[in-house]
Formats: sequence, structure tokens, C-alpha cells
Amino acid sequence: VTTFGRIAVVGASLAGVRAAETLRASGHQGRLTLISAEPEMPYDRPPLSKQLLTGEWDTERVWLRKPDHYSALDCHLLLGRRAVSLDPVRRTLRLDDDIDVEFDGLIVATGAEPRRLPATPSLPGIRYLRTLPDALALRSSVEHDGRVVVIGAGFIGLEAAARSQRRGAQVAVVESATRPLERVLGPRASALVAQLHADNGVDLRCSTAVSHIEGDSDVTGVRLTDGTLLATKTVLVGIGAAPSTAWLADSGLHVADGVMCDAYCAAAPGIYAAGDVARWYSTSLGAHVRHEHWTNAVEQARRAAQNMLLDPGEQVPYDPVPYVWSDQYDIRIQVLGHWLPDDDVRVLEEDTRARRLVELRGRLGRVTGALTINAPREFLRLKRLVNAATEWSSAAERTPA
Ligand SMILES: Cc1cc2nc3c(=O)[nH]c(=O)nc-3n(C[C@H](O)[C@H](O)[C@H](O)COP(=O)(O)OP(=O)(O)OC[C@H]3O[C@@H](n4cnc5c(N)ncnc54)[C@H](O)[C@@H]3O)c2cc1C
Repeated sequence: VTTFGRIAVVGASLAGVRAAETLRASGHQGRLTLISAEPEMPYDRPPLSKQLLTGEWDTERVWLRKPDHYSALDCHLLLGRRAVSLDPVRRTLRLDDDIDVEFDGLIVATGAEPRRLPATPSLPGIRYLRTLPDALALRSSVEHDGRVVVIGAGFIGLEAAARSQRRGAQVAVVESATRPLERVLGPRASALVAQLHADNGVDLRCSTAVSHIEGDSDVTGVRLTDGTLLATKTVLVGIGAAPSTAWLADSGLHVADGVMCDAYCAAAPGIYAAGDVARWYSTSLGAHVRHEHWTNAVEQARRAAQNMLLDPGEQVPYDPVPYVWSDQYDIRIQVLGHWLPDDDVRVLEEDTRARRLVELRGRLGRVTGALTINAPREFLRLKRLVNAATEWSSAAERTPA
């Protein structure tokens, strides 16, 4: 075991908090500093596009942990303080109040931030959804205006569309691809999701792009490239996220759409990264990958923190089976495994009316993934086959279509 005197964790959201907990659980007894740019108690993001957006949950319910948890961890939690630079050789972080934090070990967990709509002035009605204040502002804006245009039919945009529609707002979604989430879910699931939103009264416009936002001092509408004007005062931009790495620009760390890490989540000696910000080498794919999913932030934070405390020969590569879920209306979409378009797919159940879909996916003779819509029990059954990397032929026998 390697002992570190002082460990700093930059970013106190899901990955940062879980890393801090793992460090303590794995025996780190020295100083532990957790630094968050946000002033709020560390909170969880999935409810921001779900229960918080409808007002079912209040803000305290999204906190990751109660405030006294951090003192029990003997963790020095710095809220509302941003790391602005890193010197990996002197092992020092500079914060935005010009204070330097010295460390022996560092975990970078600065997550991601929304991609901005290009060439667009920032008008008050143009909203993004990443933070607690974003969610509260979007909620009150949709409530006040009674309508919203969502740009981008990704998970967050579609979840926000579903919740806003449920609250009685008129909702339009603009997507440049032919169907929502097709690249992520594949064709069958994507068609089902499109139908789900159409049936619920969402005006889903695919294969069309936004030309520009109309309005001088505030938004009056969204002009599409086909000339259509969607009148609205509220626009939610959900066109993806980019890793929060600007503060590392002069650090000498290798940054390329994420902090580049080896298979053990190390970016440099004693410096690890985890969560949405980390791009690590997946030994099973033979490539660097980055995931923006809740389960990845949890699992990678644990692995990175454990590896940091282990001697090099004892460290374990991080090579998870990725998992993501999304809740839209009363339906849960669940996806396990890396999905490649030429994977083998076996459709075990497809019922458009009941909005159910169960797919098993495989590659090179093994079960490698599963996708279910509105079938949580089936998902658990298929998960066992994926985790055991079951032979494709024997799995087919055990899962009659
Ligand atoms: C609205 C929404 C809904 C989601 N729903 C789902 C879902 O249903 N299912 C699912 O699998 N995933 C979901 N996700 C994704 C999941 O929440 C993320 O993968 C997860 O939050 C990643 O955690 P993280 O700690 O790596 O990064 P983040 O949560 O982005 O946290 C990073 C933290 O670091 C801070 N920070 C950034 N730069 C600095 C700096 N220089 N100094 C100090 N602090 C800094 C940020 O302010 C932030 O607090 C959702 C995400 C969002 C935004």
C-alpha cells in the first residue's frame, strides 16, 4: 500500500464524493480535501431532469449525503471554490481565491459542462440543464411560459421534454438526426422512443436543424432551417456535454476530450481521474473511452481511489460493462454494454403498444449487452448473461424469443 500525506479531490459531485469515501474506506489517514466549484452541498444530477423538474422533490432530497457526513469522513470540504490551475511537478493546485493547495495525491473529478449553442448570444430564455440552479430556473420558466422548445433529443432533453409535458406545457423537440437517440440505442428502441413522445403530445421534429434563435433582448422563437418558426420564450439546449478541463490547460497533463488516463485511471504519477471528465484506456475495447453516466462515475471513482493507494503491481485495470438508464414518462430505458452498430442483436420481445422492448446483444460469439424498455425484470435476467459473458449460442437457447 502506498501512503499519501495529503490527497486532494477536485470536483465534489458524484465521482468526487465517492472517491473521497473510498479513500477513507481503503485506509487513507492523511489530510483529505474535497474542492467544489459549486456553492451547494454536493448533489446528484439524475433527478434534475426528473423529479426536481416537476417539483416532486425539493433540493435537499437531491443532496448526495447529509452535511455531517463530510465531517464524519474527516474531509475538508471547500464549497464555492474553483481550481484554476495545476502544477503536477510541484504538486500544487491554485484556487480562484489565489490560495494554493499542496497535495501528494490528486483525483480529478471535474465532470462535464453543457455544450453551448454555437454563434448564439446568451439570452435569458436560452437554458441549459446541468446544475441545480439550472433545473430550478428551467422549472419556473416552463411553468411561467407554458411552453418550451428543446434542442437536441438526447437523454436529458427527452427527459426534460417528458416532465415538462406532464406538467401541462406545450413541448417541441428539434433533432437533426432522423430519430431520437438512434446512435445510442439502435433503430428499434429509437423508433419506440419517438412514438412514446409523439403519443404523449410532444411535437418531435427530427431530420431538421435550428437555424437561429429569434429575439433581441430575449427569446421569441426558434427558427428551423426549413423556415418554420417555433414560437417560445423558453429554449432548453441539450446538445451534449464537454469535459471540464479548461483549468488543466497549462498543467502538462494530456487532455484530449477528457483527461487521458491509462487502464488504471492514472493520468500521471499520483494523479488519477474519474467520472465524466476521464478518458481511460479500456483493455477490452483496446481504445480510450469516456462515459457520461452515473454508474460509471461511481465505479470509476472507486477504482481510481483504490488504485491510487495500491502499489503499481497490485493495481487493477478499470474495464466495466457500462450501464445507463433513462426515465421518460412512466418508462425506464436500460442499456448495458458497449453498443456497436454491427453487434448481433436478438429481439426477445417487441410490443409497441405496451411500449416494451427486450434485446440481447452479442459480439464474437459472446453476450456483450442488453437493452430493455419498460422491462426491468427482464433486464436483471439478461444482466446475468452479460456479466458472465455467456456464449451467444447457449444464451439464445436460454432466452427464447
Ligand atoms: C440533468 C442530468 C440528468 C442525468 N440523468 C442520468 C440518468 O438518468 N442516468 C445516468 O446514467 N446518468 C445520468 N446523468 C449523468 C450523471 O449525472 C453524470 O454522469 C454524473 O453526474 C457524473 O459525475 P461527475 O462527478 O463525474 O461529474 P459532475 O456531476 O459533472 O460533477 C463535477 C463537479 O466538479 C465541479 N467542477 C468543475 N470544474 C471544477 C474546478 N475547476 N474546480 C472545482 N470544481 C470543479 C463541477 O462544478 C461539479 O460540481 C445525468 C446528468 C444530468 C446533468
